[in-house]
Amino acid sequence: EQCRTDKEFVTVVTKGDDVAEGDNIRPRGQELAAGSLIINRGTALQAHHVGLLASVGIASVPVTRPVRVAILSTGDELVEPGEPLAGGQIYNSNRYLLTGLLAAPGIDILDLGVVEDTLSATEARLTEAAAADCIITTGGVSVGDGDHIKAAVDQLGWLNLWGIALKPGKPMTFGQVKGTPFFGLPGNPVSAFLTFLLFARPFLLALQGRDYQPPVSQTAIARFATKANPTRREYLRVTLEGGYVSAYHNQSSGVLSSVVASNALAVIPAGRAVAPGDRVEVITYGQLF
Ligand code: AMP
Ligand code: MG
Repeated sequence: EQCRTDKEFVTVVTKGDDVAEGDNIRPRGQELAAGSLIINRGTALQAHHVGLLASVGIASVPVTRPVRVAILSTGDELVEPGEPLAGGQIYNSNRYLLTGLLAAPGIDILDLGVVEDTLSATEARLTEAAAADCIITTGGVSVGDGDHIKAAVDQLGWLNLWGIALKPGKPMTFGQVKGTPFFGLPGNPVSAFLTFLLFARPFLLALQGRDYQPPVSQTAIARFATKANPTRREYLRVTLEGGYVSAYHNQSSGVLSSVVASNALAVIPAGRAVAPGDRVEVITYGQLF
């Protein structure tokens, strides 16, 4: 760049005042010294990781195989979208909710559809599901006549926990079916959504050998009021905007539109009443997916 041509067409490079030795030169090893760690174990390889591997000439790296997750809906009242609805029936939303939540690199879904509400059918389908690395069911975990998950898992393995102090999500269960880890998520769609994100997702990341970063919360000023729940922590579907949070008007665990119409969860500890103007803990959905 700093040069002149003399009469005999010889190019003479000169050193200008503004050029220091080594300027505009990329020395060997400036990015990475030989032998240095370039990507941590447990990293999910994205485009830039693969590009970096290629840049240092690495053609292959060891990876874990995909984790196989069996999903199963319970409920005689369930009808698949696209089919006509008769009286007493509802559409199966959890199956598609879970399929979406599980759609990620490194996860293979084994969709076992819907099982009828009998103990024998539930046992048979759970036995089939045990071929996967993890089983996730929805519904049938309460204590009604149509609820057979608990009895079936008691037969085929054991439950480590049954019921958590959370709203929504109280009937969530965790255990093993023929040695395969098992999550029995509640049937109500918001409960299934929440317990998947809070419990099943971190578990699946660990199964994949991946790093899990707990969600980072922030605080915001409530524009709503709630009565204290004496025993359970509550996760309210809220909209966070400019440091304020407003709660969706219907917080029923069956109302999935509360999730669609919100962008965050407000975490209200058991025993705490909230009045407008109070500071509350908020986790945005971006932290949970
Ligand atoms: P359960 O615990 O099976 O009684 O389910 C609790 C509630 O969630 C009931 O109102 C069920 O109809 C509903 N539910 C269960 N499974 C599903 C599903 N796959 N999709 C939508 N709603 C469901
Ligand atoms: Mg049911």
